[in-house]
Amino acid sequence: MTQLVDTPIPSDPQTHPAFRGGPVAPSTSKLTPLDSTEIRLTQGYWRSWQQKNSDVVLAHCEAWMERIGWIGNFDRAASGDTGWEHSGIEFVDSEIYKLLEAMAWDLGHGENPDLQQRYDSLVDRVASAQEADGYLHTSFGRPGQPARYSNLEWGHELYCFGHLIQAAVARIRTAGSGRLVEVAIRLADHLYATFGPSGREAVCGHPEIEPALAELGRATGDARYLELAALFVERRGHGLLKPIEYGQEYFQDDQPVREAETLRGHAVRALYLASGALDVAVELGDEALAAAVERQWSHTVATRTYITGGMGSHHQDEAFGADFELPPDRAYSETCAGIGSNMLSWRLLLQHGDTKYADLLERTLLNNVMASPREDGRAFFYTNTLHQRVPGSVPDEGELNARALSSLRAPWFEVSCCPTNVARTLASVELYFATKTHDGLQLHQYGSYDIDTTLDSGTPVSFSVVSGYPAEGRIVVTSREQTTSEVTLTLRIPAWAGHADVTVGSNDPERVDGETVSVTRRFAPGDTVVLDLPMKARWVTPDPRIDAVRGTVAVERGPLVLCLEEQASERTVNDVRVDTSAPLVTTDTGAGVTLVTPAAPGTAGTAGTDGLGRAGWPYGEAPADEGRGASEGILRPYATWANEGPSTMRVWLPTA
Ligand SMILES: [Zn+2]
Repeated sequence: MTQLVDTPIPSDPQTHPAFRGGPVAPSTSKLTPLDSTEIRLTQGYWRSWQQKNSDVVLAHCEAWMERIGWIGNFDRAASGDTGWEHSGIEFVDSEIYKLLEAMAWDLGHGENPDLQQRYDSLVDRVASAQEADGYLHTSFGRPGQPARYSNLEWGHELYCFGHLIQAAVARIRTAGSGRLVEVAIRLADHLYATFGPSGREAVCGHPEIEPALAELGRATGDARYLELAALFVERRGHGLLKPIEYGQEYFQDDQPVREAETLRGHAVRALYLASGALDVAVELGDEALAAAVERQWSHTVATRTYITGGMGSHHQDEAFGADFELPPDRAYSETCAGIGSNMLSWRLLLQHGDTKYADLLERTLLNNVMASPREDGRAFFYTNTLHQRVPGSVPDEGELNARALSSLRAPWFEVSCCPTNVARTLASVELYFATKTHDGLQLHQYGSYDIDTTLDSGTPVSFSVVSGYPAEGRIVVTSREQTTSEVTLTLRIPAWAGHADVTVGSNDPERVDGETVSVTRRFAPGDTVVLDLPMKARWVTPDPRIDAVRGTVAVERGPLVLCLEEQASERTVNDVRVDTSAPLVTTDTGAGVTLVTPAAPGTAGTAGTDGLGRAGWPYGEAPADEGRGASEGILRPYATWANEGPSTMRVWLPTA
C-alpha cells in the first residue's frame, strides 16, 4: 500500500518531484516517464505536427469556441445574471478545459508570450465562474438551469470536472502552480465533500473524473483525491445509474471493473474508466484490480480493435461491438477512443514495460489519432471509417457539423470532443516516446528528438535521435555526452518489423530478432547506435472470424496502414479486387499493387447475367472472372486520406 502524504503544494517547482512529469506520473512503475524538460522534438513528422498544433490548432479551437459562445458561457455564468441562454450542449465546458490542457503542455516547451497571455485570460474567465463552494459548471445549478447533479446519467458534470483537473495537472507538471491549479483544488475538495466517504454514493455517466483525481492526488500528494477516485471506480458496475435505452453496459455500470473480462459499451467511457482504474490500482497496490484492467486490454486488443488501432464499431451508441464485429464501412473508431486507448496503453507500458503496449500505442497514434486532423490543422475527423463507399461531401466550413455525418474532415462539431483531444495529444506527444530506469533509457517511439535526463542511478545522459520515421526506417541514436557509468540503451523493435539491423558505432550491422535491442556501455560523445527497420510493404490478412473483411487483404508499410483512395468521380474503390500473386511494390510513401476490375456483379449485362446470379440481384453462384482488366493501384498512408477533396477509400481490398 502506497502511503500518500497530505502536504501543501511547495512553492518552488524545481525542488518538488511532483512538479515535473508527463500526463501520467505513477508513484511506482517499472519504467519512469520523462517530462517536457527531458525530451524535446527537434525535426521531422512529429516536430512539424507539434508546431502546427501550437501555431494553428490551438488558435482554431479557441476561435471557434469564442465565436459560438462556449467560452462566453463562463462570462455569463460569472455575471450572476439569470435567464441567459447556455451555448452548446451541456458538456462543452470540457472542450475549454482540454484546450487549456493543450496550452499548458505547449507552454511547457518554452516561452510564448502571446500564448501565455491567451492562456491566462482564458483561465481568468473560467475561474470567475467558480462558485463559493468550489462547484464550477456553466450548465447546472443556476436559476432556470437543471439542479446540480440532477442528471448524472447524461449531464457529464464530473466528466467536465475531470478535464478541468487534467488541465490543472498539466499546469502543475510544466509550471508548478497557477490560478487554474487553485480552481481545480477547490473543485476537487467540493467533490470530496459531495461524493466522498460520507457523501452521496453516485458515479458520473461518463468516466474521466477517475484518472483526473488519481493524477491530482499524485501531483499534489493529497491522498483524499486518490481515495475519491478509488470510490468512483469501485462504485461503478452496481447499477447506480438509472437504466437507459442502450443498457447499463453503455456506461460500464453493468459489471464491476474488477470482474469484467473485456472493455465494452461506449468506447471512450470504457477506456477512460480503465485508465483511472489502473491508476487507482497502482497507487493502492491493488494487484487484482490491475490484473483485471490488463485482462480487459488483452481481450479487447485481440477481438475488438481495428487494424488502425481504432476502437468502437457501433454508430448508434459509439460502442464496442461483439468480439470480431469490426465492419470497415461502419467503423466508428472515434478519434477520442484512440486517444483513450493510448492513455491506457501508456499506463500499462509504464507498469509492465512490455513492448506490446508501445506497439499498439504506435499503431493507434499514427493510424487512428493522426487520421483525424486535416493537413492544415483546421478540420478533423470525429469518426474514422475504413471504407468510404461514396465520395464524401464537403462540409460547410462556417457551420457546426454533426459528429458522424460528416464524410470529410470538418472544422467543428456540435459535439466537438475530438479536435481539443487531438490538440492536447499533439502538445504532449513526445512525453509518450521514451522512459528511463535505474541505469537505462528506453526508446519506445521513433522520430527526431533530444533527450537530456539523469537516470535514477544519478548518471546524466544526453542522446539525439534522428529519423525520417514514420516514412523511413532508419533511426540514428547519438550520445552527446560522456556517461560516467554504464548505461543500457534499449530500442523497441516494432512487432510489425519482427527484426532489425543494428549497427553499433563502426561495427558491422547485426540482425536482431525479437522485441528490443539493448546496448550497454559507457557512452562517449559521438557514439552511435543505428536501427534499420524493414520498410518493405507487406500484405496483412485478417483473422477469419472478422467476417466483414474475410477474403480481403490490407497493406502496411513500416508502422503505417495503407489505403486505396480514388478521387476521380468516374471510378470508385468499391469494385476493385487486388491480385496478391502480382508483385507488391514499395514506394516512397506507400505501395503499388495490381488491381483487377471484374464486371460489377449484379448489374445487367447484355446476356442478362454477368456471372453472379441473375441481373439486378447480388446473390447467386460464384462469379466468373471474365473480361477483367488489370491496372496499377497506388496505396497511400490511411492517415492522410481525404486531404484532396471528396473521394472513395478502402483499407481492406478483396482478393481476386
Ligand atoms: Zn471525440
